Amino acid sequence: MNFQSNLTHPVFKIISECADEMNVPAYVIGGWVRDLLLNRPSKDIDIVIIGSGIELAQQVAKKLGDNYHVNVYKSFGTAQLVFDEFDIEFVGARKESYRSESRKPIVENGTLEDDQNRRDFTINALAISLNSKNYGELLDPFDGLKDMNSKTIRTPLNPDITYSDDPLRMMRAIRFATQLNYTITEESLQSITKNKDRIKIISKERITDELNKIILAPTPSIGFKLLFDTGLLHKIFPQMILLYGVENRNGKAHKDNFYHTLEVLDNVCKKSDDLWLRWAAILHDIAKPQTKRFEPDHGWTFHGHEDKGSRMVPIIFAELKLPLNEKMKFVQKLVLLHLRPIVLAKSEITDSAVRRLLFEAGDDIDDLMKLCEADITSKNEYKVQKYLKNFELVRQKLKDIEEKDNIRNWQPPISGEDIMKAFNIKAGREVGVIKNAIREAILDGIIKNNFEEAQKLMLEKGKDLGLVSSSI
Ligand code: ATP
Repeated sequence: MNFQSNLTHPVFKIISECADEMNVPAYVIGGWVRDLLLNRPSKDIDIVIIGSGIELAQQVAKKLGDNYHVNVYKSFGTAQLVFDEFDIEFVGARKESYRSESRKPIVENGTLEDDQNRRDFTINALAISLNSKNYGELLDPFDGLKDMNSKTIRTPLNPDITYSDDPLRMMRAIRFATQLNYTITEESLQSITKNKDRIKIISKERITDELNKIILAPTPSIGFKLLFDTGLLHKIFPQMILLYGVENRNGKAHKDNFYHTLEVLDNVCKKSDDLWLRWAAILHDIAKPQTKRFEPDHGWTFHGHEDKGSRMVPIIFAELKLPLNEKMKFVQKLVLLHLRPIVLAKSEITDSAVRRLLFEAGDDIDDLMKLCEADITSKNEYKVQKYLKNFELVRQKLKDIEEKDNIRNWQPPISGEDIMKAFNIKAGREVGVIKNAIREAILDGIIKNNFEEAQKLMLEKGKDLGLVSSSI
């Protein structure tokens, strides 16, 4: 098979000329070739040569002209060059051998075959020749093309060797299966199950990197089910496993919160690409196992799971080496508030409840509504339709109240400073009491959200507290 017509960009021609001049075989290999065949153009090009990658990169840069600079990573034997929109990495073909305690192999120079052998999956081991004598020719010793056509993830070598050598590949297999909606071979799945304990030699950052790629796929539940079935999830994210299972007492069963969470996650993914909203979906019920009670009159309850769950978020983020910044706070907030719109949708929607929700959710209200709509996973279509309809009313009400009262990014119309000046007092308890009274009155709709009404209430409250106004 020949891909000459896909290699028309001048960069390939120049690499080809340089490789010919140096009289060394050169190939474009790995992800770029896979993505070409998948019709999803990639900007990352990996070039393998049977010789020095650094020298080839330098030759190519020379040919391109003065403006091109090669970044050399001597200890890795690699060189990088940016050309147009492409990020090109050059490396000599290598042979790798592994020791049991590390995923860092011993590396020596090798042939193209050696280099293809060390790749993780057949679809990632495809190479296209760049030398003029066979420009564009596909080198596919492991039938990667066939696996692509049958949508299969398969290791080039015995999977026990591939996964045990570098256990990150277990995460990568599941990540590719999820991103591409491919099937992992039975042999590979068994091998992942067998080798799952070896994931412990991989850094948390790398594992989470792959997990995030699974979460960003169109249907992440595919990946989570594979992680669960192979036992990898138990190793990398044990809190999520506790959601699994159904308990039945006196004929009353609760739903399986693991599969419910996955359904919510997939639902959210239809509405948003945001990684953190997706994390909020994963974690929204995370404290259900810890708060589960059986109350004979009511059945199963999970009182306070939203509060406990939001307090678990920083612990889980720290364990998974996710950022402990405003993204985490966003996830915490959504977990904490995830029941509020449902409560609104189930009961009569008062202006004051809507104002309070807007006040607490602020700019994250739209994401919160997306999460809550995704949380409706009842099998009873009538119920689903009823709740969705009520959510429409909640959304409308949110819009009306926001237009009227401007609560979303609420700033108090009277500041602490104003209060101190008005009564000629220092910072202290009274200032807080008056500020709270003004906020509560606005949220309850007793006064309007403006300076005049707030000032009037401030003076009344100050009088109640025995303060004397200095300005009147
Ligand atoms: P993506 O671009 O979607 O992150 P990718 O696998 O194409 O995925 P890289 O991680 O840069 O991108 O890897 C490039 C190539 O290097 C892969 O296609 C594969 O051939 C090889 N490779 C990467 N990681 C490994 C690994 N852990 N074991 C074996 N081969 C690997």
